[in-house]
Amino acid sequence: MNAVQYDPWDPIHALRRHGRYALTSVEFTVTHLCNMRCEHCAVGDALTMTEGDTLPVDLMLRRLDEVEHLETISLTGGEPTFREATIREVMLPLLQYAKSRGIRTQVNTNLTLDLERYEVLAPLVDVMHISYNYTSPDDFHEMGFARAGHPVAARTAWMLYDRMLDNARQLSQGGLFLSAESMINYRTHERIGDMHRTIADMGCKRHEVHPMYPSAFAAALPKLSLEQVRAAIHRLLDVRDDRLWVLFGTLPFFACSDRPEELELLRRLADTEQVSVRNDPDGRNRLNVDMFNGNVHVTDFADLSALGNIRQDRLEDVFARWLEHPLSHTVSCYCPDAGCCGPNVLVKSMYYEDTDFTVRAAKLKLGAS
Ligand code: SF4
Repeated sequence: MNAVQYDPWDPIHALRRHGRYALTSVEFTVTHLCNMRCEHCAVGDALTMTEGDTLPVDLMLRRLDEVEHLETISLTGGEPTFREATIREVMLPLLQYAKSRGIRTQVNTNLTLDLERYEVLAPLVDVMHISYNYTSPDDFHEMGFARAGHPVAARTAWMLYDRMLDNARQLSQGGLFLSAESMINYRTHERIGDMHRTIADMGCKRHEVHPMYPSAFAAALPKLSLEQVRAAIHRLLDVRDDRLWVLFGTLPFFACSDRPEELELLRRLADTEQVSVRNDPDGRNRLNVDMFNGNVHVTDFADLSALGNIRQDRLEDVFARWLEHPLSHTVSCYCPDAGCCGPNVLVKSMYYEDTDFTVRAAKLKLGAS
């Protein structure tokens, strides 16, 4: 089974294997510091200018030891590499632990800092994940510092943009698997094809595409209609570079839809080589741990209060608690023939507030997603 068919971050595999959702993925927020302030940042409200020490890494490792079916970990921020001490004292020990257990690893980064910071991580990273939502250095300047609270010189932004592209090319030439994520939003939906071409030129092996949902800094940005999202996906598929794996996630389209045009899009996605649709991991196989206060969330960006704290809770217990949460029940549907386990809570509240997915059923057979 190749990577497109077996995506270990997709919660459906554990559901098929165990007959229930299982905690297979843990995401660590390793910093709240970042050198950028993007207008679309899904954790923007949590970013800070200073921060103290994380909880001891040994505590994290003990909590990971307790997760029986752990398959993946992700390290996220902020910009995880912002402080070299974070790389040395937090990231490397977590990544080394993961490798020793045969667990896949992902680092979410903006890739704009010195190449050396990423090179030291590279041998331990399965997926280096970056955001790419631009068609020019000016776009990067406008979007990447929109929430800085002070003017950032265009020259400074262009330098970071060039460094991101150079870093991406050098790391991918060195064999690192780079995945660039683009959001479909009011700025990008008509330019997604251009962004895809740059991502291919950077040497990325995967283009990950998600519609943007209202969270943190992104909460006030204009919302796209379902028709606009659908058109953007078709636009991308029309010009897709078939050397890249295109992975769609958090799509607001489901095989139980009453709209033929949405079923047709799902069919096209399922029938296109090197394209996959990931079921959303948040709350289905993944928890997020804040390494500073130990709080455990269903995701790093939902406005839900913490479900537990690693100082006293086992992660499996927190996960079980979430599955019993009333909010979890509102999206707990599963149609095996469509390879679908329903919307996440952000998708439902943005587009399907009044829909009860638990009584719907797929109209399409789509096979493995
Ligand atoms: S799992 Fe839920 S969202 Fe997916 S097709 Fe079935 S009812 Fe619809």
